[in-house]
Amino acid sequence: MLPYARQSVDASDVAAVTAAISEPYLTTGPAVTRFESDLAGWTGGHPAVAVTSGTAALHTAYAAAGVGPGQEVVTSPLTFVATAATAALLGARVVFADVDDATGCLDADAAAAAVTDRTSVMTAVDYAGLPADMDALRTVTDRAGALLMEDAAHSIGTVWRGRPVGSLADLTTLSFFATKNLTTAEGGAVVSTSPDLLARAARFRNHGLVRDPGEQREPDEGPWHQEVHSFGLNYRLPDVLCALGSSQLRRLAAFKARRAELSARYDAALADVAEVRTPARPADADVAWHLYPARVPADARRALFDHLRAAGIGVQVNYIPAHWHPVFADLGHRRGECPVAEQWYREEISLPLFVGVTDDDVDRVCDLVRGFFAG
Ligand SMILES: *Cc1c(COP(=O)(O)O)cnc(C)c1O
Repeated sequence: MLPYARQSVDASDVAAVTAAISEPYLTTGPAVTRFESDLAGWTGGHPAVAVTSGTAALHTAYAAAGVGPGQEVVTSPLTFVATAATAALLGARVVFADVDDATGCLDADAAAAAVTDRTSVMTAVDYAGLPADMDALRTVTDRAGALLMEDAAHSIGTVWRGRPVGSLADLTTLSFFATKNLTTAEGGAVVSTSPDLLARAARFRNHGLVRDPGEQREPDEGPWHQEVHSFGLNYRLPDVLCALGSSQLRRLAAFKARRAELSARYDAALADVAEVRTPARPADADVAWHLYPARVPADARRALFDHLRAAGIGVQVNYIPAHWHPVFADLGHRRGECPVAEQWYREEISLPLFVGVTDDDVDRVCDLVRGFFAG
């Protein structure tokens, strides 16, 4: 079986983890700080706070933004449910705005139309690795007095209009789940261009604890004293996993290059299959491709999926529109709310894309796709 995604762990990663696990700090030690500063090398220098997953990163970023009851968060439905679920958990109402048909990313006009005076955050999702039009979205959030967030679970390493992911939004969230562009097994990070938002994120990750006596209400309690001013959680990413993260970051440029090669090979091999729409390639984006999202006629998608799975090809569908989940239906969301994203979902099939895919694998998958439509 050729999976649709798989991590790449080599001897250098194993050595980094082996070294870290013998250090005195198994949890929060020097490897955390090192990983965070290594991440900043990919974000245009903007600092990061490491957390335990991409979902934790979203939850932490919304908490840092002060998201809560009475507020609305505008986002794309063409995403993993966590982008919306974490805002809903904090008590906000999620407003789904439709995507751009070419890229699958939040459409700026649809996002502008979804704004109300309760909008506090707008969250773009870098679908497959490609950012939304962040300049157009910035105009919308500036006008709305809202923060701009970017779920960049797919896109660390992408550079858009000369600016790296991490520098495009007020808050950017990353995921280091095993299928993503680099992995720490489970893991994630919040990146911010605002020192204040970053400090709030760092505090939320660690129970909300205030350790600096200068900021405490009762600093004379004693040298052991720490206090909580706002609630937080334990979302700390351990040293051992941060050591894996730093090691993976050293390989990220090579990962990005190989993913781009494979993606281009799919494009070329599928160019003669009339039924397949290959991903958009905007000239202003240097993309770290996470997915290879092909689109086929909606009435053929299920049969093609079954055909490829039967042949041992681990295809996937990304994503069921977030508002179709019963939990959002129960909150009043309806099918038809975002027709472009819904049509995208009906047509989408993700072909295997990871560093270990060979050129022969790509050719075999494309021959199967071609054969399916020819037969
Ligand atoms: C993977 C992913 C997440 C969640 O990340 P985890 O690390 O799995 O919690 C959130 N949003 C998007 C778009 C993702 O792909």
